[in-house]
Amino acid sequence: MDPHSDTVNQTLNRAGRAMRTLRDRPARARVLEALASRLEAVRPELIALASEETALTAAELEPEFARAVGTLRMFAGLARSSPVLAELHSPPEALPIGPNHDLRRVLVPIGPVAVFGASNFPLAYGVLGGDTASALAAGCAVVVKEHPAHPRLGRRLAALAREACAPIAPDAVQYLDSLQAHPDPRDHTLARALLAHPALAGVGFTGSVAGGVALAELARARPMPIPVYAEQGSLNPVVLLPGALEEATLDAAGALASSILLRHGQQCTKPGLIVLVELDALGGRGEAFERALTAKLNAGPARRPLAPWIASAYLARLRDCAPHAEPLVGATQPTDGTTRPALLRARGAVHSTLLHETFGPSTVLVHARADELPALLDLLPGSLTGTVWASARERGGELFALVMERRMARAGRVIVNGVPTGVRVAPAMTHTGPWPASNHPEASAVGSAAVMRWLRPVTVQGTLP
Ligand code: NAP
Repeated sequence: MDPHSDTVNQTLNRAGRAMRTLRDRPARARVLEALASRLEAVRPELIALASEETALTAAELEPEFARAVGTLRMFAGLARSSPVLAELHSPPEALPIGPNHDLRRVLVPIGPVAVFGASNFPLAYGVLGGDTASALAAGCAVVVKEHPAHPRLGRRLAALAREACAPIAPDAVQYLDSLQAHPDPRDHTLARALLAHPALAGVGFTGSVAGGVALAELARARPMPIPVYAEQGSLNPVVLLPGALEEATLDAAGALASSILLRHGQQCTKPGLIVLVELDALGGRGEAFERALTAKLNAGPARRPLAPWIASAYLARLRDCAPHAEPLVGATQPTDGTTRPALLRARGAVHSTLLHETFGPSTVLVHARADELPALLDLLPGSLTGTVWASARERGGELFALVMERRMARAGRVIVNGVPTGVRVAPAMTHTGPWPASNHPEASAVGSAAVMRWLRPVTVQGTLP
């Protein structure tokens, strides 16, 4: 007998009851608005709690808080009035293709959804983050699995959700408290019990590749498999064409260093590999770029990562990468639980070990000749983002077209002359990418399109008299 089966049963029964109220779109909108207002009312408390548990600074958490509240409100607006959720009607017509049936296509919620948030965005991907907001907008009740990196924040958010939802759909957001269920936070019996429950209809996951793979396997092994939308780790390569450095050597170094250091490198969009093309043709500008990047990362502070196991994983990754690259920064790491930024340098053909995300403030600088670039681009894995820096003149050229084409094929968002960190929540945003960034590159986790993951189309035929 599974120790969690009673808890999971009760939780999913309650979620099932909430689904009935959430059939009503105005009720979904009221739930989402009530959640946004409840969070806003206690903003300083939540920022302080998140900062205490994750070691992210208040300045780093403020924009995330605004994003989480803005996302709840965006989905409230979508639930209330968006054409995205509207019925599609094909009435009988003069020259039909096939039988002249009256057809009405409606979108129905798939059923209760489990949400597994990530350690690094306790608000935007937490209990009341984007997966929860989009699932509620679709009419799905949500069961959130606690994250061991911020349990006190998770429980507080769950309490606020109960208060906010009570008058509208009391059981819309359910919370499974893993720490009280068992003392070892890395014990996955609760996740297994949740995914095995027949009433669960889908999963939103944000986290490591290993976690996404494990949950997708559990979902596939069910008698009735369910979808798992897993947004996972990402390398986010950046390619600097020579002309970009003619125009903006130090701007590029400064912008990329800030992007790597923000939130101590613990961002799914952190640039993890920077390709410097044709260093020798740059007349010293390439060296200037490298010196500036090295100096800025060297000056980056030692900080406490989100959780002790994240510090250990970062140090282990640096040890794995060390035989395949020269260390420029961070070869020696502290032993007091904090970690320092790291910069590694490789040339030409890059060892496969370097082509995975290192979750923390590190990046790999690769020097490549223009004729080595096509092969290198082919080696790069799928990513949330691909970035290219180029001068105005280069943007009309073949090299730029090649990089754009290869990055479009392997990334969900392609950025020109910018940095990949900083994600706008808007209808045109794509936040996903080919494997390993996600197992569903066709479905964005950010922006209004995220709601479609939790809906299923049904066509009703023949209702006309
Ligand atoms: P994580 O360790 O995979 O944890 C995420 C959640 O999944 C936790 O609740 C975790 O619970 C659970 N989990 C992990 N492995 C599991 C397994 N084998 N079976 C069942 N449950 C499992 O990831 P994280 O450290 O929180 O997040 C960091 C990662 O997320 C980075 O790779 C980052 O790039 C990525 N991320 C991606 C995005 C995106 O949008 N693509 C956004 C933010 C972060 P336990 O801890 O109890 O195992």
